[in-house]
Amino acid sequence: MWLTCRLVPDHKTIADFRKNNGSAIKRVCAQFIELCRQMGLLTTSSVAIDGSKFKAVNTRDKNFTRGKVERRRAQLEESVARYLAQLDTADRQEPSEELAAKTDHLKEKLVKLESVMQRLAAMEKLMLASSDQQISLTDPDSRSMATSGRGSGVVGYNVQVAVDTKHHLIVTHEVTNDGSDRAQLANIASQAKQVLGVDELQAVADRGYYSSEEILACHEAGITVTLPKPVTSGIEAKGRFGKQDFRYLAEEDVYVCPAGEKLAYHYTNEEKGLVLHRYWTNACQSCAIKNRCTTGKERRIMRWKHEQVLEIVQKRLDKNPQAMRQRRETVEHPFGTLKMRMGATHFLMKRLPKVATEMALHVLAYNLTRVMNILGIQPLMTAIRA
Ligand code: SF4
Repeated sequence: MWLTCRLVPDHKTIADFRKNNGSAIKRVCAQFIELCRQMGLLTTSSVAIDGSKFKAVNTRDKNFTRGKVERRRAQLEESVARYLAQLDTADRQEPSEELAAKTDHLKEKLVKLESVMQRLAAMEKLMLASSDQQISLTDPDSRSMATSGRGSGVVGYNVQVAVDTKHHLIVTHEVTNDGSDRAQLANIASQAKQVLGVDELQAVADRGYYSSEEILACHEAGITVTLPKPVTSGIEAKGRFGKQDFRYLAEEDVYVCPAGEKLAYHYTNEEKGLVLHRYWTNACQSCAIKNRCTTGKERRIMRWKHEQVLEIVQKRLDKNPQAMRQRRETVEHPFGTLKMRMGATHFLMKRLPKVATEMALHVLAYNLTRVMNILGIQPLMTAIRA
């Protein structure tokens, strides 16, 4: 309305405009961030990367995964068993008018359950035939995704953003229906680097992005990433030494263990596309602290071919433990504002391309109002006209 000098288009006009101008809206969003760069608002070459789940126009009831179908079937079977048991009890009682009405009611319920089970079986067939064994009926591109709240989840999209750490402007964003952040780091960081037009970029992300291959890709693209490694092995939880308790000596190509023994290189193999070197020592069997180290014959340490890249990332994080706080403060701002403006239902459009347009419009609005707050309206109008 502000852009159109107080014209008040009806909702259908706005919806059609949004539907018919997807690529132009995305270009305007990208062009605005370029304007921000030209205005000198993006000079730090430092971004925080994060993803957040946004709800689609698809309720949880209209999304089917293998787990959900199994749980629903178990519930239905339980109900059928309960009604059948009630019918058996009724059979053993003296016939009466009330009993006949109750029996009819139970039979009706069983017929309804039968048709629900048939519908569920049809959904299961469709779900198993889909590539990722999941279907969403209202918005077929939306996916069931876990959120940070324990046991909670949404049916929606995963919105990835790179936010500049100084002014909290969204440098770049992408909407995906992959619920995991693990394969997103290099892509979104490279996009941010390109938008900012810099040779080197600092990027900070959370442990959900930790992936050896992604970190290596960033390293090779001139992107300095800082992120913590997730604890996945469980070995430390059991009170035993973790890999970080073993020191690597590059000049000798050995690991030094907590008992001071040197673990020598033995062989190399490939696992899930990663070339891994294996190290161990024969001293484990007579080691006084073996019970704190391994339950096996000896403790083996594996080292990825590019492990030094991961070690540099860890050192960087150790040197700057504030990085994680800075990351949280930077990304919470845009995500909080976007979700507050979108309301409780988040996306209004269906299918990934249209949802991506809707997000581009929201990102543009966020960046626009952010610049108004930083510079004021007049300098922004002058820069847009220039
Ligand atoms: S068990 Fe082996 S690797 Fe572990 S501390 Fe003892 S000697 Fe070192």
